[in-house]
Amino acid sequence: ANVSHELKTPLTSISGFAEIIQNGFVQEQDIPKFAGRIYKEAQRLLQLVEDVIQISQLDEEKTPYIWEPVDIYQVCKNAFDSLKEKAQQMNVHLYICGESMKIEAVRTLLEEAVYNICDNAIKYNRNDGNVSIFLTQTAQEAQIVVKDTGIGIPEEEQTRIFERFYRTDLSRSRKTGGAGIGLAIVKAIVQAHQGTVTVTSKVGCGSRFTVTLPAGEETR
Ligand code: ADP
Repeated sequence: ANVSHELKTPLTSISGFAEIIQNGFVQEQDIPKFAGRIYKEAQRLLQLVEDVIQISQLDEEKTPYIWEPVDIYQVCKNAFDSLKEKAQQMNVHLYICGESMKIEAVRTLLEEAVYNICDNAIKYNRNDGNVSIFLTQTAQEAQIVVKDTGIGIPEEEQTRIFERFYRTDLSRSRKTGGAGIGLAIVKAIVQAHQGTVTVTSKVGCGSRFTVTLPAGEETR
C-alpha cells in the first residue's frame, strides 16, 4: 500500500496535467507552468526508482564497493556542508562534537547514510532548532549519534520508520515531499557495514539516531 501510494501520486499528477493540456484547457502562457509541474513530478518518480534500484543492489550484495579507511568526522562535515543551505532556510543550527576517527568503510555509502539521517533531522525540525552530531570511538567500534529538536516520532512507529516507504502521520502533514525510503537505505547501508542503527524519540521534543559501526581490521 505504501509503495503504490508513492508511485501513484506523482503519476496521477503527471497524467492529469498532460490530459488538460492535451484537451486545450490550458492557456498558452500557462503551459510552461504546467510543464514545470510535470517535470518536477517526473523527477520525483525518477529519484524514487533510483532509490529502489539502489536498495535492491544493497540487498543483493552484488556491487563491488571499495572498502577503505574513512574518516567519520569528515563524512559528517561533508553531509553538513551539503545541507547548509537547507538548514539556513529552515533556520536550523548544525553542530558536530567529536574528533577525526577512521573506520574501514565504503565512503560513498557511509556519506549517503549520514546525509539521509541529517537531512531528516533538518526537515522534521522546528524553527530555530538544532541538529547535533556526537562522535565516539572505542578500539572495536565507532558511534555516530544524530540528535535533533524536531517533531519527534511516536513510540509505536519508531521501529516502522526503517521500513521501505513508511512515513509517520506527523511528517505526512509537513509536505516535505519525501517518499519514506531514506531510512530504509540507511538501514541497508549500515547492515552492509555489519553495524546497527536505532532511534529513540519523544513527540514534540526531538529524536536521536544512533549508528554503531565496527572499526574494521585495517583501522584497529
Ligand atoms: P522520508 O522521505 O519520508 O523522510 P525516511 O525513510 O527518511 O523518509 O523517513 C521515514 C519517516 O520517518 C519519515 O517520513 C518521518 O515520518 C520519520 N522520520 C525520520 N527521521 C525523522 C526525524 N528526525 N524526526 C521526525 N521524524 C522522522
